[in-house]
Amino acid sequence: MINLIGIGYDIGDLTVNAFSAIIEADIIINFDNIDISDLDSYTKDKEIIDRDSIKSEEDLDTLSEDMIQLEEDSEEISNDSKAVYSKLNESYSLIELAISKSFDNDVALICSNNPNIYGIANLLIQISSKYSDVELKIHPGVSPIDYASSILGTPFDDFIAIDLNKTLSSSKELKNKIKFAIRNDVVLFIHNIIGEEDDLMDNFNLLKELVNEYGKDLLVAAVNDSSYEISKFNEIDEKKLNRNTSLVIGTKLSYKLEDYMVTSCDYIVEPKFISQNMDFFERYLKDETPQELDYDCDYLPCHKSLEACDFCYCPFYPCADGVTGGEWIKDKDVWSCQYCDWIHLEEPCQTIRQGLGDILKDVDDLKDKHIELLRLRRECLLKTLK
Ligand code: SF4
Repeated sequence: MINLIGIGYDIGDLTVNAFSAIIEADIIINFDNIDISDLDSYTKDKEIIDRDSIKSEEDLDTLSEDMIQLEEDSEEISNDSKAVYSKLNESYSLIELAISKSFDNDVALICSNNPNIYGIANLLIQISSKYSDVELKIHPGVSPIDYASSILGTPFDDFIAIDLNKTLSSSKELKNKIKFAIRNDVVLFIHNIIGEEDDLMDNFNLLKELVNEYGKDLLVAAVNDSSYEISKFNEIDEKKLNRNTSLVIGTKLSYKLEDYMVTSCDYIVEPKFISQNMDFFERYLKDETPQELDYDCDYLPCHKSLEACDFCYCPFYPCADGVTGGEWIKDKDVWSCQYCDWIHLEEPCQTIRQGLGDILKDVDDLKDKHIELLRLRRECLLKTLK
């Protein structure tokens, strides 16, 4: 039996099931040479095989005929290809070894989820299909995707994950995927940002070019284990990037909140109203409120980037979403719109007006249809935020 165990970002992220499988294993095969010394007291009586020991002659005997043939044929191919094959062979050899040992033993094949965000399940399943009667069970670890999403506060409910360093993916394929994500407002999770050979930063530079062209103001978090730095893409400190760094590129709806990178999601707060708000929308429904700038208003200009007074009171209040500049007044349970300029810009005002007619028929709709109004807000943000 093979238990494939994803360690996750850190040995401390092991799931209970994965931990039990390690304890019950006769043999541990350490696919990524992970430091498992924290588990010494549980593993001291077990046979442990890692990448270095696979190179010993006895284990190499267990390689399949195909694999040995590949080594021999490699004399006839280019040096670049040889390097790729050599690395692949090492990985395949460990998996072949795990399979051969698993017919008589319980094998724990442990791997990191980084750089392969899914561990090596895909590889194990494909190689196992060469043999009959391979029993395997997969214990996923906390992947860098789950890790980054949680520690940043950036929900990955709509996201695309891209491996920048895949042997068979062309730069055209990478470009299309990255462009699609940025243009369609989905969070982009990038891993393996640094290549293996001479072209270390080629794919990162391609990413940089595309982000600068299609989303230069998007926030990005460079996540290294449990620490991260949030910045605009062109402000990333490239010297701090390494093979384990994952990048999370936010959408137009991502913003920095204290030390986190939040992407607006489904935080919905029940609306509370003040009488001025209701009075304003009574008049709005009768078409008695101003459109564009109200030069007769004593408070003009009340906001820094004021372009339109259409929504002196906001139909989405309280949106509880800081992407447009609103924020909670600490310890008061009051949502402040003081720094939200978006609702006072011309284009958003026109876009909101167009959608509001279908929802707001009566002032009570401000509270009864708050969720519909928040959907309209999101739609207008995606249309109008630059
Ligand atoms: S922050 Fe802006 S969009 Fe949100 S409720 Fe306040 S004014 Fe409206």
